[in-house]
Amino acid sequence: MAKRILITGAAGFLGSHLSDRFIKEGFEVIGMDNLITGDMKNIAHLLNHQNFEFFNYDVTQFVHVRGELDYILHFASPASPIDYLKIPIQTLKVGSLGIWHLLGLAKEKNARILIASTSEVYGDPLVHPQTEDYYGNVNTICPRGVYDEAKRFQESMTMAYHRFHGVDTRIARIFNTYGPRMRLNDGRVIPAFIGQALRGQDLTVFGDGSQTRSFCYVDDQVEGIYRLLLSDYTDPVNIGNPDEITIKDFAEEIIKLTNTTQKIIYEPLPADDPMQRQPDITRAKEILGWEPKVSRQEGMKITYEYFKGLTEEELFKSEH
Ligand code: NAD
Ligand code: UDP
Repeated sequence: MAKRILITGAAGFLGSHLSDRFIKEGFEVIGMDNLITGDMKNIAHLLNHQNFEFFNYDVTQFVHVRGELDYILHFASPASPIDYLKIPIQTLKVGSLGIWHLLGLAKEKNARILIASTSEVYGDPLVHPQTEDYYGNVNTICPRGVYDEAKRFQESMTMAYHRFHGVDTRIARIFNTYGPRMRLNDGRVIPAFIGQALRGQDLTVFGDGSQTRSFCYVDDQVEGIYRLLLSDYTDPVNIGNPDEITIKDFAEEIIKLTNTTQKIIYEPLPADDPMQRQPDITRAKEILGWEPKVSRQEGMKITYEYFKGLTEEELFKSEH
């Protein structure tokens, strides 16, 4: 019998790639998404697959799934700063009511649940690179706090269900991940820069561009999540690529990659934008035997090809 897995946020960037992977591994996949930031286009190729079912559903409501369930991946949540600043209450609800419903479902079905946590639990970190035992530096009341605190609550709730109800849980702390199917206008730095390059606009670096990020290609991320789900490790695990770069240097790399003549222009740094971010992945290496394989050069080439394939209408459509 094929194993059954529920993936929330299945029509989003990571959820759709995870759905592909679990289908490929022979699982029966139940995708669930309310499409608030997702797009059916990301899973259109799966809709007629005999092992894929999709429910347009908001997981902040009571979640019920018919039949047996072996695994749950809780990936539903706005994930880009401009998304969660636009829909702050939904972000808090999916990280609180959403996880409560999904942990309840895991308990009822005796299913293992993995939650998508984030490097944002470390906030603007005072420890570098970030190890899992760092508690973080989060401003609870800043606009960005809605995402960070929802994810921190989500981790606490998950550990409480694990300790109190014996639910089998996994926590992935995901660092900036990119690749095909990111939304061009989601405001995250990679689609923002590539979109600007393709439209012939200057690249907007926020602040002086000295802040750093470490970008992980989606296939590596999916492999890390897959291994963590099938492991027996219940403490949080960082999944990301430690290859760190400043945002200014990254903008210059994109100008080279896209072979454009655009300039870099500087705009104000958003409130509480973390100054540096780099995962310490010692734990993932030791426990999962995992480390990223795709270099930023390779991953960005694939991602650029994807965005080049979008229609003019998609490229110039504005969401804001
Ligand atoms: P995404 O916006 O592409 O996908 C999120 C999906 O969740 C969307 O399809 C959206 O419609 C759905 N969703 C949101 N609220 C919902 C609700 N109440 N009910 C049902 N569906 C809902 O973002 P993504 O980059 O694929 O992120 C997926 C998950 O991974 C999120 O939980 C995010 O916090 C986490 N994460 C992502 C990154 C990254 O770099 N991509 C980094 C850290 C954590
Ligand atoms: N950023 C930027 N220009 C943009 C979009 C983002 O300079 O057009 C910066 C942003 O301020 C942050 C970094 O790029 O320092 C990564 O931003 P993103 O929204 O991708 O992710 P996060 O801040 O959540 O890591």
